Amino acid sequence: MRQAGRIVAEVLAALQQRIRPGVNTAELDELVYQIITKCKAFPSFKGYRGFPASLCVSINEEVVHGLPNKKRYLKEGDIVSFDVGAIYQGYQGDAAVTVGVGEIAEAAKELLAVTAGTLAAGIAQSRAGNHTGDISWAIQDYAESRGYSVVREYTGHGIGLQMHEDPQIPNYGQPERGFLLKPGMTFALEPMVNEGDWRTRVLADNWTVVTKDGKLSAHFEHTIAVTEGEPEILTRL
Ligand code: MG
Repeated sequence: MRQAGRIVAEVLAALQQRIRPGVNTAELDELVYQIITKCKAFPSFKGYRGFPASLCVSINEEVVHGLPNKKRYLKEGDIVSFDVGAIYQGYQGDAAVTVGVGEIAEAAKELLAVTAGTLAAGIAQSRAGNHTGDISWAIQDYAESRGYSVVREYTGHGIGLQMHEDPQIPNYGQPERGFLLKPGMTFALEPMVNEGDWRTRVLADNWTVVTKDGKLSAHFEHTIAVTEGEPEILTRL
């Protein structure tokens, strides 16, 4: 899983180097496929429940599961979430990052900073002896105390030999509830934070999730391991 995670981290770094106004999202998908397969890994999203691409690219009010598209280009001022998964020798890694294209508005910068902060807050709670609810609450509290909302329809998840394993780890909840964390557990934390209301809907393509109110959303994700001490982030370079 460390190796799968490193491949995912390398892909996300390559995407961030490539990002600028005018870049085509289908070309980014092709780049992801090329890097992952060159590493002798497989893109876990490709074909997953029929998903047609290696990359989820979700722009502005799009929350998650956005489809790369030959007709879709990044524009100055967009915020774009890249979500990537890789399978290496049977083991999975899954991570996401949201970044600005060129110069972005102050409100967008603040949303990105807060969303990154929610992920860090969740990771800090990922310690043996804590419960999944401690993670959920830390994420929710970090976002809501700063005036943002957390998406409720999609959650973090266990990960290992499958991309999505038990338990689900919602981005809201109560301390000391849920599953007890033990060393060796691995999961993907993925807070999705909205500028406005938390509610979402799915577009007619049956994949792209957008905010119901059309306001911005951001998404950060890491695959992590619970250890005897500090949590280990598997999808960081
Ligand atoms: Mg995930």
